[in-house]
Amino acid sequence: REAHVAAARLGEGAGVAIVVSLRDLTEQRRSERMRGDFVANASHELRTPLASLLGFIETLQGPARNDPAARDRFLEIMRSQANRMSRLIDDLLSLTRIELKAHVRPRDEVDLAALARSVADSLAPLARERGVELDLAGASTPVMVRGDRDELTRVAENLIENAIKYGQAGKRVEVSVRENGTAPSLVVRDFGPGIAPEHLPRLTERFYRADVADSRDKGGTGLGLALVKHILQRHGGRLTIESALGAGAVFTAELQPASSSSEGERLLKRAS
Ligand code: ADP
Repeated sequence: REAHVAAARLGEGAGVAIVVSLRDLTEQRRSERMRGDFVANASHELRTPLASLLGFIETLQGPARNDPAARDRFLEIMRSQANRMSRLIDDLLSLTRIELKAHVRPRDEVDLAALARSVADSLAPLARERGVELDLAGASTPVMVRGDRDELTRVAENLIENAIKYGQAGKRVEVSVRENGTAPSLVVRDFGPGIAPEHLPRLTERFYRADVADSRDKGGTGLGLALVKHILQRHGGRLTIESALGAGAVFTAELQPASSSSEGERLLKRAS
């Protein structure tokens, strides 16, 4: 209706105005629908562990009141459910924060190789638990990129942690950092069951999982790769995923080299 009112006011020659306004409204509706879906998904994801927590509390107050063994077991499950809710809220907040600054390019210089080594160190206990050997052969010489250290740490954590979790227990995960001229990259390869082609294009959508039960079992929130994608976009980079069933998976995070100047800087240089 807004478009019609605008057209009526403009009178003749308002055809272009109508088209533009209608397109804006469609775009607005689409983004409203997406926001609505997101809130519905997030609420559902939070409600599941919450319902389980409430159920266990009732059991502990009732039938299991005098059963110390059951109590300990239930408290352990409740702790893991509460942890899951906490991770989910952290990821939701991170996504919102990244989106708010989506149009600001991070400016610091970060050594991607050192960052990958430190993230791998912090994930060594998880790798040991799964019997996975973290192979960092390709991350020894410095590779300087432009970015935000905390956000890039998040990217490396999500990709390496996924490779450990969804790769094959007892097999290798390779982490390498490549100079690649204009597109330095972090490459994480696992030798696990891989990803079916129908899931590949949707993996970076919020809450999308190839196997929901498996992801929940492994403590996933379904937001990790969405976060990775948004962080890389804000960095002027991108994520590519190559995989086939039975053939493991390769996740490549491409970034901008620290030496590259921004569009603004290039224009300034040209003008001076
Ligand atoms: P989650 O919190 O579920 O791990 P992500 O956004 O990090 O969420 O990943 C989305 C889904 O992509 C996972 O649930 C899993 O199904 C799939 N996935 C991610 N990494 C891998 C991998 N290395 N191998 C196989 N599947 C993967």
